[in-house]
Amino acid sequence: MNTIYLILGGNLGDRKTNIDKALRLIEVSLGHLLKVSKYYQTAAWGNTQQPDFLNLACVVATDKNVEECLKIILAIEQQLGRVRLEKWGARLIDIDILYFNNDIIATENLTVPHPEIANRKFVLVPLCDIAPEFVHPQLQLANRQLLDGLKDSLEVLEYMMRRD
Ligand code: ATP
Ligand code: CA
Ligand code: CA
Repeated sequence: MNTIYLILGGNLGDRKTNIDKALRLIEVSLGHLLKVSKYYQTAAWGNTQQPDFLNLACVVATDKNVEECLKIILAIEQQLGRVRLEKWGARLIDIDILYFNNDIIATENLTVPHPEIANRKFVLVPLCDIAPEFVHPQLQLANRQLLDGLKDSLEVLEYMMRRD
């Protein structure tokens, strides 16, 4: 069994519904959801002239290898209607692999741990909900320590569900 940590995010359409649909598809095709973070809202990173993002982190037990996992998450993005327009542009859903066990992977289409973890508060805040003690296999620091060391000024706020 492998343990894969994912970050899900989106800033178009019904963001929470898209994330929830992605979680259901992850359960169907990737494996068992062990933990899911709260939902967090963050101003867009990179290109700031676009709607706020909703993000959530989860950890999944899977019998797939990492290449299979990448194929599956890209297929889930497709299924939910993601269209790739511009780098860091608005999107319905984005799913990135943060960690895969303690593996360090650098291939043409895959870098794990995700190279931006330590720079992104919108990743580390949800990740610390589910795995504060998990140690980054390259940096040798726990997620909690990475978050404490971060100077990212963007606010990451817990997203309150509206009661309709
Ligand atoms: P960023 O990686 O900075 O968050 P992004 O998520 O917007 O950028 P995408 O356009 O969604 O980038 O991804 C492009 C490609 O990145 C994917 O098709 C995949 O091959 C590659 N990739 C490399 N490492 C990873 C990873 N750890 N998780 C997901 N995709 C990855
Ligand atoms: Ca991403
Ligand atoms: Ca991505």
